[in-house]
Amino acid sequence: SDHSLDYPSSPRDIDWAAHYPAYANTGKLPEFADVGCGFGGLLITLAPLFPDTLMLGMEIRVQVSQYVQDRIAALRVAAATADPSSTELSPSAHYQNISIVRANAMKFLPNFFAKHSLSALFFLFPDPHFKSRKHKARIISPTLLAEYAYVLRPGGIVYTITDVKDLHDWMRSHLEDFPLFEYVDEATLRAEGKGPIIDAVYTSTEEGKKVERNHGEKWLACFRRIEVPRE
Ligand code: SAM
Repeated sequence: SDHSLDYPSSPRDIDWAAHYPAYANTGKLPEFADVGCGFGGLLITLAPLFPDTLMLGMEIRVQVSQYVQDRIAALRVAAATADPSSTELSPSAHYQNISIVRANAMKFLPNFFAKHSLSALFFLFPDPHFKSRKHKARIISPTLLAEYAYVLRPGGIVYTITDVKDLHDWMRSHLEDFPLFEYVDEATLRAEGKGPIIDAVYTSTEEGKKVERNHGEKWLACFRRIEVPRE
């Protein structure tokens, strides 16, 4: 349950400088959001690849979000110890551009992210909630899609991946039915230079690695947030 969670009343009320101290003077806001980030593998892989991009993980489990927070803090200290002079030169090599909040991403997402502030939204190996009566608990649903469209800027991408075919079909059909999202295939995204992101989506997370160990299949579906609603 998340009744004990405090939510910011708006993104302006969040102390982003505390999350990203090395970027405090840049006025930057998070542009990538990893929903249900688990142990943080995606953030840690992407951090050095996108030095100008702030990224935020959201995780509902207390211990897991604390673990990720500690993991990022340790990576920052290790990098600064190895090369103290480089923090300001390349803060992303010091994992200064990634952070995490403990939050229920199905609630109050716009309290964390301003309208059109995100260029990427990740749903990697979300909990499947197999039973029909639990489908409303799924992280992709018509109501939530409106919120995802609100926080994503036109041109922004929703990345989904799962090893559960039924969940893949569900996420894909709901996104396809929503007038502000357009399916975009992997080859197109790679041609746009998003190959490193796709690679990380497939392999960087703890759940993705588990699926690999078990020789499971992975189903990717990506969507572009379009400007003008489809007919
Ligand atoms: N994305 C990670 C990965 O690929 O390794 C974790 C996948 S794990 C199966 C799903 C994660 O989503 C869990 O860590 C769970 O606690 C988190 N989660 C589930 N519902 C959530 C919600 N409403 N808000 C934030 N996190 C949530």
